[in-house]
Amino acid sequence: MTKIFAVTNQKGGVGKTTTCVNLAASLVATKRRVLLVDMDPQGHATLGSGINKKDLTLSVYDLLMGEASAEDVRLKTDPAGYDLLPANVDLAGAEVNLINEPHRERRLADALSTIKKDYDFILIDCPPSLNLLTINALTAARGVLVPVQCEYYALEGLASLLDTLKRVASTVNPGLEVMGILRTMYDPRNSLTQDVSNQLTEYFKDQVLGTVIPRNVRLAEAPSYGMPVLSYDAKSKGSLAYLALAGEILRRNSL
Ligand code: ADP
Ligand code: MG
Repeated sequence: MTKIFAVTNQKGGVGKTTTCVNLAASLVATKRRVLLVDMDPQGHATLGSGINKKDLTLSVYDLLMGEASAEDVRLKTDPAGYDLLPANVDLAGAEVNLINEPHRERRLADALSTIKKDYDFILIDCPPSLNLLTINALTAARGVLVPVQCEYYALEGLASLLDTLKRVASTVNPGLEVMGILRTMYDPRNSLTQDVSNQLTEYFKDQVLGTVIPRNVRLAEAPSYGMPVLSYDAKSKGSLAYLALAGEILRRNSL
């Protein structure tokens, strides 16, 4: 069975895209077949996968509008090794153009149904808001991975995210669950990091993943070369952390 995870948090800059690209590459390293879906009009997951977002002939926008199939939109990435449904700024128009369409929150779920069998994992990178694009991701997903940067204000916003998850679960997608909360840009020497991390585990208990992603400059550099950190610097702390995350996710889901 294909596992579909939405990587989401309406806060920007918490490591959603970094997690998508590097977790996807780490799952490929464990011989899993992986599709990454870029649901953010900023197209950062597309760029970070080595695809020039300005050159796209088809993108997730065409998919949501019903003008192209997932088979037609998907691309192979190199050296990352996963498949990608790419996005660019066109996607910003999807919300307005879908406003009067029936089943507008199911567009991504329906589009993925024809190609899901080709993958063990589908990861969906969400935009930094709880808009129709995020709702599409939550409707298509089985699990939600929430990256959290352990800093002041980190917990603010988590409550409204969890409310949205509950609303989607009680209406269009009853199977939806939180797969894990991931601590990113973790700096153990910083006492604020420790405080926020303790609050997270107190409140969310074993929903907080054991793997933490350290702050690592290699992770920030890799996207400018259009590759995951595993291809850029396989021995970096960032690479090892995302490999460990892939391992934990495989174990937690008994895969
Ligand atoms: P989001 O998708 O949630 O907006 P990004 O993944 O784009 O967040 O990360 C925001 C910025 O922080 C990017 O410049 C990225 O390269 C950097 N970054 C993300 N994770 C790390 C990390 N663990 N260490 C260092 N820099 C990171
Ligand atoms: Mg992003």
